[in-house]
Amino acid sequence: MRTLVLKGKEAIEKGAELIASGEVVAFPTETVYGLGADAFNEEAVKKIFAAKGRPSDNPLIVHIADISALDGLAEDVSEAAKSVISAFMPGPITVIMKKSEKVPLSVTAGLDTVGIRMPSHVVAREFIKACGTPIAAPSANRSTHISPTSAEHVFEDMDGRIPLIIDGGDCEVGIESTIIDMSTDVPTILRPGAVTSEMLAEVLGAVKTFSGKVVVAKAPGMKYKHYAPSCETVVAKDVGSAVKAYDDAEEKGLKPVIIARSSTAEKLGGRTHIDLGSSDAEVCRNIYAALHRAEKIAGFIVCEHFGEKGVCGSVMNRVMKSAGGKIV
Ligand code: AMP
Ligand code: MG
Repeated sequence: MRTLVLKGKEAIEKGAELIASGEVVAFPTETVYGLGADAFNEEAVKKIFAAKGRPSDNPLIVHIADISALDGLAEDVSEAAKSVISAFMPGPITVIMKKSEKVPLSVTAGLDTVGIRMPSHVVAREFIKACGTPIAAPSANRSTHISPTSAEHVFEDMDGRIPLIIDGGDCEVGIESTIIDMSTDVPTILRPGAVTSEMLAEVLGAVKTFSGKVVVAKAPGMKYKHYAPSCETVVAKDVGSAVKAYDDAEEKGLKPVIIARSSTAEKLGGRTHIDLGSSDAEVCRNIYAALHRAEKIAGFIVCEHFGEKGVCGSVMNRVMKSAGGKIV
Protein backbone atom coordinates (compact mmCIF):
# COMPACT_ATOMS: atom_id res chain seq x y z
CA MET A 1 0.00 0.00 0.00
CA ARG A 2 1.27 3.46 -0.89
CA THR A 3 1.01 5.99 1.97
CA LEU A 4 0.03 9.49 0.82
CA VAL A 5 0.96 12.55 2.88
CA LEU A 6 -1.33 15.49 2.10
CA LYS A 7 -2.06 18.94 3.52
CA GLY A 8 -4.99 21.36 3.56
CA LYS A 9 -8.41 20.99 1.97
CA GLU A 10 -7.32 18.19 -0.35
CA ALA A 11 -6.12 16.14 2.65
CA ILE A 12 -9.40 16.58 4.53
CA GLU A 13 -11.53 15.64 1.51
CA LYS A 14 -9.44 12.56 0.74
CA GLY A 15 -9.41 11.65 4.45
CA ALA A 16 -13.19 11.83 4.75
CA GLU A 17 -13.56 9.72 1.58
CA LEU A 18 -11.25 7.04 2.97
CA ILE A 19 -13.04 6.99 6.34
CA ALA A 20 -16.40 6.59 4.54
CA SER A 21 -14.98 3.62 2.63
CA GLY A 22 -13.90 1.91 5.86
CA GLU A 23 -10.22 2.86 5.77
CA VAL A 24 -7.90 4.28 8.44
CA VAL A 25 -6.36 7.76 8.26
CA ALA A 26 -3.66 9.41 10.39
CA PHE A 27 -4.50 12.96 11.45
CA PRO A 28 -2.96 15.71 13.58
CA THR A 29 -4.30 16.81 16.96
CA GLU A 30 -2.91 19.25 19.52
CA THR A 31 -1.63 16.32 21.64
CA VAL A 32 -0.12 13.74 19.25
CA TYR A 33 -1.09 12.36 15.81
CA GLY A 34 -3.99 9.90 15.86
CA LEU A 35 -4.79 6.91 13.65
CA GLY A 36 -8.53 7.17 13.04
CA ALA A 37 -11.39 5.06 11.74
CA ASP A 38 -15.19 5.37 11.78
CA ALA A 39 -16.04 4.44 15.38
CA PHE A 40 -19.23 2.69 14.23
CA ASN A 41 -17.50 0.53 11.61
CA GLU A 42 -16.01 -2.53 13.31
CA GLU A 43 -14.10 -3.72 10.23
CA ALA A 44 -12.45 -0.30 9.94
CA VAL A 45 -11.63 -0.28 13.66
CA LYS A 46 -9.90 -3.67 13.28
CA LYS A 47 -7.57 -2.07 10.73
CA ILE A 48 -6.30 0.35 13.40
CA PHE A 49 -5.19 -2.53 15.62
CA ALA A 50 -3.61 -4.28 12.61
CA ALA A 51 -1.70 -1.18 11.41
CA LYS A 52 -0.38 -0.45 14.91
CA GLY A 53 0.26 -4.06 15.88
CA ARG A 54 -1.71 -3.18 18.99
CA PRO A 55 -3.29 -5.78 21.30
CA SER A 56 -7.07 -5.61 20.90
CA ASP A 57 -7.66 -5.47 24.68
CA ASN A 58 -6.44 -1.87 24.76
CA PRO A 59 -9.36 0.52 24.15
CA LEU A 60 -9.47 3.41 21.66
CA ILE A 61 -10.55 7.00 22.30
CA VAL A 62 -13.57 8.30 20.38
CA HIS A 63 -12.97 11.75 18.88
CA ILE A 64 -15.78 14.22 18.22
CA ALA A 65 -15.91 17.70 16.67
CA ASP A 66 -19.03 18.91 18.39
CA ILE A 67 -20.39 18.38 21.89
CA SER A 68 -23.79 17.36 20.48
CA ALA A 69 -22.15 14.11 19.25
CA LEU A 70 -21.90 13.03 22.89
CA ASP A 71 -25.58 12.03 22.88
CA GLY A 72 -25.15 8.92 20.74
CA LEU A 73 -21.96 7.83 22.49
CA ALA A 74 -22.24 8.24 26.27
CA GLU A 75 -24.99 7.59 28.81
CA ASP A 76 -25.70 8.68 32.39
CA VAL A 77 -23.39 11.68 32.02
CA SER A 78 -23.04 13.06 35.55
CA GLU A 79 -23.09 16.75 36.48
CA ALA A 80 -19.42 16.42 37.45
CA ALA A 81 -18.59 15.00 34.02
CA LYS A 82 -20.47 17.85 32.38
CA SER A 83 -18.47 20.38 34.36
CA VAL A 84 -15.16 18.79 33.26
CA ILE A 85 -16.39 18.78 29.66
CA SER A 86 -17.40 22.42 29.72
CA ALA A 87 -14.17 23.47 31.44
CA PHE A 88 -11.66 21.61 29.25
CA MET A 89 -13.28 20.63 25.94
CA PRO A 90 -12.19 21.23 23.25
CA GLY A 91 -8.70 20.50 24.55
CA PRO A 92 -6.17 17.85 25.61
CA ILE A 93 -8.48 15.74 27.80
CA THR A 94 -10.33 12.43 27.43
CA VAL A 95 -13.37 11.80 29.63
CA ILE A 96 -14.40 8.21 30.38
CA MET A 97 -18.15 7.73 30.71
CA LYS A 98 -20.68 4.89 30.49
CA LYS A 99 -20.91 3.89 26.84
CA SER A 100 -24.09 3.87 24.79
CA GLU A 101 -25.11 0.62 23.12
CA LYS A 102 -24.20 2.05 19.73
CA VAL A 103 -20.48 2.08 20.50
CA PRO A 104 -18.96 -1.24 19.37
CA LEU A 105 -17.16 -3.30 22.00
CA SER A 106 -14.18 -3.56 19.65
CA VAL A 107 -13.64 0.18 20.21
CA THR A 108 -13.80 -0.05 24.00
CA ALA A 109 -11.99 -3.40 24.21
CA GLY A 110 -15.04 -4.97 25.81
CA LEU A 111 -15.44 -2.29 28.50
CA ASP A 112 -18.87 -0.78 29.24
CA THR A 113 -17.27 2.66 29.24
CA VAL A 114 -16.07 4.89 26.42
CA GLY A 115 -13.34 7.56 26.34
CA ILE A 116 -14.46 10.74 24.58
CA ARG A 117 -12.19 13.50 23.37
CA MET A 118 -12.87 16.71 21.46
CA PRO A 119 -9.58 18.02 20.04
CA SER A 120 -8.97 21.76 19.72
CA HIS A 121 -6.71 21.36 16.66
CA VAL A 122 -8.37 23.08 13.68
CA VAL A 123 -7.38 20.36 11.19
CA ALA A 124 -8.57 17.58 13.52
CA ARG A 125 -11.93 19.29 13.95
CA GLU A 126 -12.38 19.92 10.22
CA PHE A 127 -11.45 16.33 9.48
CA ILE A 128 -13.89 14.85 12.02
CA LYS A 129 -16.64 17.19 10.82
CA ALA A 130 -16.03 16.21 7.19
CA CYS A 131 -16.24 12.52 8.18
CA GLY A 132 -19.65 13.12 9.75
CA THR A 133 -19.05 10.28 12.23
CA PRO A 134 -17.15 9.94 15.50
CA ILE A 135 -13.54 8.87 14.90
CA ALA A 136 -12.02 6.13 17.05
CA ALA A 137 -8.28 6.67 17.35
CA PRO A 138 -5.22 5.77 19.37
CA SER A 139 -1.86 7.44 18.73
CA ALA A 140 -0.54 6.84 15.19
CA ASN A 141 2.63 4.95 16.16
CA ARG A 142 3.50 1.25 15.95
CA SER A 143 2.49 -0.36 19.25
CA THR A 144 5.12 0.27 22.00
CA HIS A 145 7.05 2.87 19.94
CA ILE A 146 7.30 6.62 20.67
CA SER A 147 4.12 8.61 20.00
CA PRO A 148 4.24 10.78 16.86
CA THR A 149 4.13 14.59 17.06
CA SER A 150 4.72 15.26 13.33
CA ALA A 151 3.59 13.77 10.01
CA GLU A 152 7.20 12.59 9.51
CA HIS A 153 7.07 10.57 12.74
CA VAL A 154 3.87 8.90 11.55
CA PHE A 155 5.39 8.17 8.14
CA GLU A 156 8.41 6.48 9.73
CA ASP A 157 6.17 4.05 11.64
CA MET A 158 3.29 3.64 9.19
CA ASP A 159 4.68 3.92 5.64
CA GLY A 160 3.05 1.19 3.57
CA ARG A 161 0.58 0.28 6.32
CA ILE A 162 -2.05 3.05 5.94
CA PRO A 163 -3.37 4.93 2.91
CA LEU A 164 -3.14 8.55 4.15
CA ILE A 165 -1.45 10.86 6.62
CA ILE A 166 -2.99 14.31 6.99
CA ASP A 167 -0.07 16.66 7.64
CA GLY A 168 -0.99 19.42 10.09
CA GLY A 169 2.53 20.32 11.20
CA ASP A 170 3.98 19.81 14.66
CA CYS A 171 1.69 19.10 17.63
CA GLU A 172 1.37 22.02 20.01
CA VAL A 173 0.94 20.12 23.31
CA GLY A 174 3.21 17.19 22.50
CA ILE A 175 2.02 14.45 24.89
CA GLU A 176 -1.23 12.44 24.92
CA SER A 177 -4.41 13.72 26.50
CA THR A 178 -5.11 13.56 30.20
CA ILE A 179 -7.55 10.68 30.78
CA ILE A 180 -10.07 11.11 33.58
CA ASP A 181 -12.51 8.36 34.51
CA MET A 182 -15.85 9.98 35.36
CA SER A 183 -17.75 6.66 35.30
CA THR A 184 -16.79 5.82 38.88
CA ASP A 185 -17.93 7.45 42.15
CA VAL A 186 -14.61 9.18 42.65
CA PRO A 187 -13.19 10.82 39.49
CA THR A 188 -9.84 9.20 38.79
CA ILE A 189 -7.00 10.32 36.54
CA LEU A 190 -5.93 7.28 34.53
CA ARG A 191 -3.25 9.09 32.55
CA PRO A 192 -1.74 12.50 33.40
CA GLY A 193 -1.45 15.12 30.65
CA ALA A 194 -1.46 18.83 29.97
CA VAL A 195 -4.70 19.20 31.93
CA THR A 196 -3.15 18.59 35.35
CA SER A 197 -4.63 17.13 38.54
CA GLU A 198 -4.47 20.63 40.04
CA MET A 199 -6.58 22.03 37.18
CA LEU A 200 -9.10 19.19 37.52
CA ALA A 201 -9.28 19.54 41.29
CA GLU A 202 -10.31 23.16 40.77
CA VAL A 203 -13.38 22.00 38.88
CA LEU A 204 -14.16 18.79 40.78
CA GLY A 205 -13.03 19.51 44.31
CA ALA A 206 -10.93 16.38 44.42
CA VAL A 207 -9.61 13.77 42.00
CA LYS A 208 -7.77 10.59 42.54
CA THR A 209 -4.57 9.94 40.63
CA PHE A 210 -4.08 6.35 39.66
CA SER A 211 -2.14 4.18 42.08
CA GLY A 212 -2.18 0.52 43.05
CA LYS A 213 -2.33 -2.79 41.32
CA VAL A 214 -3.56 -3.12 37.74
CA VAL A 215 -6.45 -5.51 37.41
CA VAL A 216 -7.84 -4.51 33.99
CA ALA A 217 -5.73 -2.25 31.79
CA LYS A 218 -7.55 1.04 31.79
CA ALA A 219 -4.93 3.53 30.68
CA PRO A 220 -2.01 3.09 28.30
CA GLY A 221 1.35 2.35 29.75
CA MET A 222 0.00 0.59 32.83
CA LYS A 223 0.14 -2.86 31.34
CA TYR A 224 2.22 -2.51 28.20
CA LYS A 225 5.65 -1.24 27.35
CA HIS A 226 5.18 2.26 25.92
CA TYR A 227 6.94 5.23 24.40
CA ALA A 228 10.08 3.16 23.94
CA PRO A 229 12.99 4.40 21.83
CA SER A 230 14.98 1.73 19.96
CA CYS A 231 18.04 2.12 22.22
CA GLU A 232 18.64 2.05 25.97
CA THR A 233 17.29 5.14 27.70
CA VAL A 234 17.88 6.35 31.26
CA VAL A 235 16.64 9.28 33.33
CA ALA A 236 19.32 11.32 35.13
CA LYS A 237 18.36 12.82 38.48
CA ASP A 238 20.81 15.76 38.12
CA VAL A 239 23.44 17.26 35.80
CA GLY A 240 26.27 15.35 37.49
CA SER A 241 24.70 11.96 36.93
CA ALA A 242 23.68 12.87 33.37
CA VAL A 243 27.30 13.69 32.55
CA LYS A 244 28.55 10.52 34.24
CA ALA A 245 26.06 8.30 32.40
CA TYR A 246 27.06 9.98 29.14
CA ASP A 247 30.79 9.52 29.72
CA ASP A 248 30.38 5.89 30.85
CA ALA A 249 28.36 5.12 27.71
CA GLU A 250 30.95 6.76 25.51
CA GLU A 251 33.70 4.73 27.12
CA LYS A 252 31.73 1.57 26.29
CA GLY A 253 31.70 2.65 22.65
CA LEU A 254 28.03 3.65 22.65
CA LYS A 255 27.13 6.95 21.06
CA PRO A 256 25.30 8.86 23.81
CA VAL A 257 23.04 11.90 23.69
CA ILE A 258 21.53 13.96 26.51
CA ILE A 259 18.00 15.40 26.30
CA ALA A 260 17.69 18.46 28.53
CA ARG A 261 16.10 21.85 28.99
CA SER A 262 18.19 24.88 27.95
CA SER A 263 19.47 25.78 31.42
CA THR A 264 20.86 22.24 31.87
CA ALA A 265 22.14 21.96 28.29
CA GLU A 266 24.47 24.89 28.98
CA LYS A 267 26.19 22.88 31.72
CA LEU A 268 27.03 19.81 29.62
CA GLY A 269 30.50 20.92 28.52
CA GLY A 270 29.87 20.46 24.81
CA ARG A 271 28.54 16.88 25.10
CA THR A 272 26.06 15.92 22.37
CA HIS A 273 22.61 16.99 23.47
CA ILE A 274 19.12 17.95 22.34
CA ASP A 275 17.85 21.21 23.82
CA LEU A 276 14.12 21.17 24.54
CA GLY A 277 13.84 24.90 25.26
CA SER A 278 13.35 26.76 28.53
CA SER A 279 9.69 26.67 29.53
CA ASP A 280 7.70 23.68 30.81
CA ALA A 281 5.38 24.00 27.79
CA GLU A 282 8.38 23.73 25.43
CA VAL A 283 9.73 20.70 27.29
CA CYS A 284 6.31 19.07 26.87
CA ARG A 285 5.91 20.09 23.23
CA ASN A 286 9.36 18.88 22.18
CA ILE A 287 9.94 15.73 24.25
CA TYR A 288 8.69 13.15 21.75
CA ALA A 289 10.43 14.81 18.79
CA ALA A 290 13.63 14.78 20.87
CA LEU A 291 13.24 11.06 21.63
CA HIS A 292 12.62 10.39 17.93
CA ARG A 293 15.74 12.31 16.96
CA ALA A 294 17.82 10.82 19.77
CA GLU A 295 17.16 7.22 18.74
CA LYS A 296 18.26 8.13 15.21
CA ILE A 297 21.53 9.85 16.09
CA ALA A 298 22.55 7.91 19.21
CA GLY A 299 22.90 4.46 20.75
CA PHE A 300 22.23 5.55 24.32
CA ILE A 301 19.84 8.23 25.57
CA VAL A 302 20.15 10.15 28.84
CA CYS A 303 17.12 12.29 29.64
CA GLU A 304 17.06 14.92 32.35
CA HIS A 305 14.51 14.53 35.18
CA PHE A 306 12.23 17.55 34.79
CA GLY A 307 10.59 17.29 38.22
CA GLU A 308 7.01 16.52 39.11
CA LYS A 309 5.47 20.00 39.16
CA GLY A 310 2.55 20.76 36.82
CA VAL A 311 2.92 19.49 33.27
CA CYS A 312 6.47 18.25 34.02
CA GLY A 313 4.91 15.47 36.10
CA SER A 314 2.99 14.39 33.00
CA VAL A 315 6.12 14.55 30.84
CA MET A 316 8.00 12.43 33.39
CA ASN A 317 5.16 9.89 33.35
CA ARG A 318 6.07 9.25 29.68
CA VAL A 319 9.85 9.58 29.99
CA MET A 320 10.00 7.13 32.91
CA LYS A 321 8.25 4.59 30.68
CA SER A 322 10.64 5.30 27.81
CA ALA A 323 13.45 4.56 30.25
CA GLY A 324 11.76 1.45 31.62
CA GLY A 325 11.89 3.16 35.02
CA LYS A 326 15.69 3.39 35.05
CA ILE A 327 17.05 6.40 36.99
CA VAL A 328 20.78 7.13 37.29
P1 AMP B 1 -3.65 5.76 22.89
O1 AMP B 1 -3.32 4.59 23.57
O2 AMP B 1 -3.65 7.05 22.52
O3 AMP B 1 -2.57 5.70 22.08
O4 AMP B 1 -5.11 6.04 23.34
C1 AMP B 1 -6.06 5.19 23.81
C2 AMP B 1 -6.02 5.02 25.29
O5 AMP B 1 -7.14 5.60 25.93
C3 AMP B 1 -6.08 3.58 25.67
O6 AMP B 1 -4.82 2.97 25.76
C4 AMP B 1 -6.83 3.54 26.96
O7 AMP B 1 -5.98 3.34 28.04
C5 AMP B 1 -7.53 4.85 27.06
N1 AMP B 1 -8.97 4.58 27.03
C6 AMP B 1 -9.80 4.66 26.00
N2 AMP B 1 -11.04 4.29 26.33
C7 AMP B 1 -11.01 3.94 27.61
C8 AMP B 1 -11.98 3.45 28.54
N3 AMP B 1 -13.24 3.22 28.20
N4 AMP B 1 -11.59 3.20 29.79
C9 AMP B 1 -10.31 3.41 30.14
N5 AMP B 1 -9.35 3.86 29.33
C10 AMP B 1 -9.68 4.13 28.09
MG1 MG C 1 -0.43 5.50 22.32
